[in-house]
Amino acid sequence: MDKRQVLASLGVMSVMGLQQINPEKITQIVSSLNMMEFLTLIVTGKLLLDWVMLDGWKDKIPFYIIKCKTHGFQISYPSGFSRELICPKCTKELSIKL
Ligand SMILES: [Zn+2]
Repeated sequence: MDKRQVLASLGVMSVMGLQQINPEKITQIVSSLNMMEFLTLIVTGKLLLDWVMLDGWKDKIPFYIIKCKTHGFQISYPSGFSRELICPKCTKELSIKL
């Protein structure tokens, strides 16, 4: 399955939604990568999947697959002032601690 199709099949996403993505879907995306894409992900820790328009958003935003040291492969997009790619599960843990 093409990674864009898998990404589309995740449905409408939000920061909340990212935490609830079925890990199987992420595995499907990773397994659909070609060698060059997979190496980019492993070496840089991120790989651009596609630009997606979310409901209620004015512009498309870039969705990345990232490799978190704690949670493995996760889906994320740039957020905050620094436009950082933050693992959605690390965000969740942090918000529980606060
Ligand atoms: Zn994490």
